[in-house]
Amino acid sequence: MKGAESGKDDYSEYDTPHLIMTYTALLSLAILRDDFERLNKPGILKLVRSCQRADGSFTSLPNGGDSDLRQVYCAFAISSILDDWSGIDVGSAVKYIQRCSNYEGGYGQSPGGEALGGTTYCALASLYLALSQSTSSVSPHLSPEERTRTIRWLLQNQTPVGGFSGRTNKVPDACYCFWAGASLHILGASEYVNVTALASFLSKCQFKFGGIAKAPEDTPDPYHTYMAVAALALYPPEGADKSYNLPKLNALWNTTEDTAEWIRSHIQRRS
Ligand SMILES: [Zn+2]
Repeated sequence: MKGAESGKDDYSEYDTPHLIMTYTALLSLAILRDDFERLNKPGILKLVRSCQRADGSFTSLPNGGDSDLRQVYCAFAISSILDDWSGIDVGSAVKYIQRCSNYEGGYGQSPGGEALGGTTYCALASLYLALSQSTSSVSPHLSPEERTRTIRWLLQNQTPVGGFSGRTNKVPDACYCFWAGASLHILGASEYVNVTALASFLSKCQFKFGGIAKAPEDTPDPYHTYMAVAALALYPPEGADKSYNLPKLNALWNTTEDTAEWIRSHIQRRS
């Protein structure tokens, strides 16, 4: 596509919108319960369209930036939130995701890359979000063999101490308890996760003055704190006290089910 056809030429380097920031802004507005009266839906769809490349992948900016499965996920999540997939060539994007599939069963950040927990989540969430629309001849469905292979790889990454690692033979990390845990949840394989061991690992990652670190004895940060809590929302340990009564999580959009419902009623069902 030439720049003029894709709309890339309409953006200058000084006022460029960003695909990942647009996804987080939509979720942030929904969390703040904005009424979305002023949402510029055509403008957002134009951004999504401008970021897709000929190989199906997306850049974070209309004129460049990073390009891997993280941007694909954001484009799919934005389209799903807006309930409008007209900004995406879904068929070529799904083919790109399929090319990122790795022999281990996970997905690399880009084709040929090592399987990673975070990008495996991006791939699976994107494919399952795409199931809600059917404009493409390329099926986002996983074959039974692909699904089994991915479940096996994810489960192998739950280490003996209960936490998940993000790559084969790496140490466990609190954030991968979400990336891998949510991936298994999306695949309908939650029952195979050892929830007691998972909660035990995450409780050891909690810093004594608050916050959760990536590993026991490490320094806490907001990212790992959120990811650990999100993992526990998907996998509450049996018999835990009521501090574990977390809001239900929507694993595909990575937000609470209450916020997802706000999106449905204030963006999708708006006449
Ligand atoms: Zn981490």
